[in-house]
Amino acid sequence: MDLGIIQLSEEQKMIVEQVREFAQKEIAPKAAEIDHEGRFPKEIIEQMGQMGLMGINIESEFGGSELDYLTYALVGEELNAACASTGVIFSAHNSLACGPLKKWASKEQKMQWLAPMARGEKLGAFALSEPGSGSDAGALICTCKKEGDHYVVNGTKNWITNGPESDTVILFATMDTALKHKGVCAFVVDKKTPGLSVGKVEHKLGIRGSGTSQLVFENVKLPVAQMIGKEGDGFKIAMSTLDGGRVGIAAQALGIARAAIEAAKSFAQERETFGKPIAQHQGIQFFFADMATRLEAARLLVWRAAILQDRGLPFTKEAAMAKLFASEAANYICDKALQIHGGFGYANEYPAERHFRDQRITEIYEGTSEIQRIVIASSVLKATQI
Ligand SMILES: Cc1cc2nc3c(=O)[nH]c(=O)nc-3n(C[C@H](O)[C@H](O)[C@H](O)COP(=O)(O)OP(=O)(O)OC[C@H]3O[C@@H](n4cnc5c(N)ncnc54)[C@H](O)[C@@H]3O)c2cc1C
Repeated sequence: MDLGIIQLSEEQKMIVEQVREFAQKEIAPKAAEIDHEGRFPKEIIEQMGQMGLMGINIESEFGGSELDYLTYALVGEELNAACASTGVIFSAHNSLACGPLKKWASKEQKMQWLAPMARGEKLGAFALSEPGSGSDAGALICTCKKEGDHYVVNGTKNWITNGPESDTVILFATMDTALKHKGVCAFVVDKKTPGLSVGKVEHKLGIRGSGTSQLVFENVKLPVAQMIGKEGDGFKIAMSTLDGGRVGIAAQALGIARAAIEAAKSFAQERETFGKPIAQHQGIQFFFADMATRLEAARLLVWRAAILQDRGLPFTKEAAMAKLFASEAANYICDKALQIHGGFGYANEYPAERHFRDQRITEIYEGTSEIQRIVIASSVLKATQI
């Protein structure tokens, strides 16, 4: 996994080793059952909390492990190589829920809301999408009306990862829909707040152990102190959070794709046709060459985006490129890995079909591939030099 030209530190290597061992011993053997039952892996998430993985980038002062974003991507790849449901729970909690608090919240807010999440005691969710707005996030219609020392929130949030199981929600709502993105505010919300309920829970193609649901807000009263940043900062907070989130989803694509190649490799070395293992047919070998090349190219883009984030440099375009390329590479890889399994790839006795289903979401959430292309194109067209 060391890319040669980018040397990992001794600490990064050690953490990858520890997480890989944990993921392969404790998570991978349960992945098929978690998927089949659509079961939220509570016990695994608790263990991850004890290992410091639920506040991976958060300062130790607020209960986190204070590790860098490259380590976050490395850990994400390992977890997702074992189980993509566990991987997205980790990613939504760390980058989408803890991330905006780390960057935008006051010290008091961090002590109250971030620290329990970073210690793994509470699970976070990020509620931006709505039934009528996903890609066009600025068109959200969930409202927050100021009344004295609090805001009253009404609306429905859709597709919320960790929606059913979360304790703490990062909410985006608008003061006035006519203001479009300039009217959006961000809040941190206790899921037990009166008027907040879990709506429809989705039945999904993949990542079936990760809960995805609506969150319904009916006259939910939020004290002013629960606003993150200022009035109108919400859209900026959401977009900057998604830059980091996209690195996490790109790492998820890497993990699923790597697991798909590994599974296809062991199958191809066992399965014989025409008197020899299929791995000895050149047509199959070419699949492996193309799968491995795409995986490693994707990993370079993911690591670059994470390193830029660690250095505090702009990384919006690079995160979009990493997510776009890694998710489409994973699509190709999981498709070919299934093909290498022949008929066995189509049944659930082998993991190929799960990888194929799990991977698909990486091209959709945290900005579809089309949205990544819009982000990349706008940067490329503005740049004086490519
Ligand atoms: C399993 C799952 C988990 C999710 N988790 C979360 C979460 O935790 N929090 C959250 O807030 N959201 C979450 N989402 C929502 C997700 O981010 C959105 O589904 C995604 O951004 C796309 O929005 P949409 O579904 O409304 O599609 P739309 O925006 O309606 O897009 C439909 C199609 O049109 C394309 N399209 C749209 N605009 C353009 C354009 N300008 N040019 C070209 N093509 C365009 C899109 O790429 C897509 O192919 C999740 C979704 C899923 C499925």
